[in-house]
Amino acid sequence: MGRKWLLYVILVLCLAVPATAVLGAERFTLQAGTRWETEGCIADSGKPGPTALILGGVHGNEPAGALAAAQICTFQPAAGKIVVVPRVNAPGLAANLRYVPDGGGDMNRAYPPQDGATPAERMGKDIIALMEKHQISFLADLHEARTFHKLDRTSLGQTLLFADNSPSTILAMDAVDVINRGITDDVKKFSLVGHPIRLSAAWYAGKYLGIAAFTVETSSQQPLTERVEQQLAVVRTLLAAGGWLGR
Ligand SMILES: [Zn+2]
Repeated sequence: MGRKWLLYVILVLCLAVPATAVLGAERFTLQAGTRWETEGCIADSGKPGPTALILGGVHGNEPAGALAAAQICTFQPAAGKIVVVPRVNAPGLAANLRYVPDGGGDMNRAYPPQDGATPAERMGKDIIALMEKHQISFLADLHEARTFHKLDRTSLGQTLLFADNSPSTILAMDAVDVINRGITDDVKKFSLVGHPIRLSAAWYAGKYLGIAAFTVETSSQQPLTERVEQQLAVVRTLLAAGGWLGR
């Protein structure tokens, strides 16, 4: 083997190390062995610090949040941990259906679960157990809406819904200016809206855990790749404001 080849092999190995580290992120499964089974991941800095929880794919016809959340599994937090469940409603995503297929309920109205009888409520129970296990201090739930809030106030596209408490208000106000600086088209800029939908994960986390909790909504009137980038930009900015990522 020539020297050039040896240098090439060393270079490839060096590039492969961070990728291996990312793939090594801890994985876990919710609703294991059922048709609602879904995988989550934990990006752990290895340093003490708070835990953030990111949810995607709660509504199965809103793919941008699920795709963005899957990428968040590769984030390298500066401190603490980022727990991610990218495909909360996995059967809904597979069928492009908003709710859990076959009358399984709305995973955006399952917090707290009432009698735990529906698949949506069982998943809600699992997510609440995850919140408690990791003592989360931040939650972002990634959604999509029909159109742009700036054009039609009945739609939540391009909004950041923040929970009714001071950690959420402070972080939202801090983050929205930064997010909008990166968006040139005025109609695509994010608006702050209080508060998350009642019985949703962000509503529950804000009300019962008193933590910073958000629903991120992109407008589906844009190419999917752009929506995914916007979701990622919002989450990155919020996580940076909260101290998980460097600014
Ligand atoms: Zn939704």
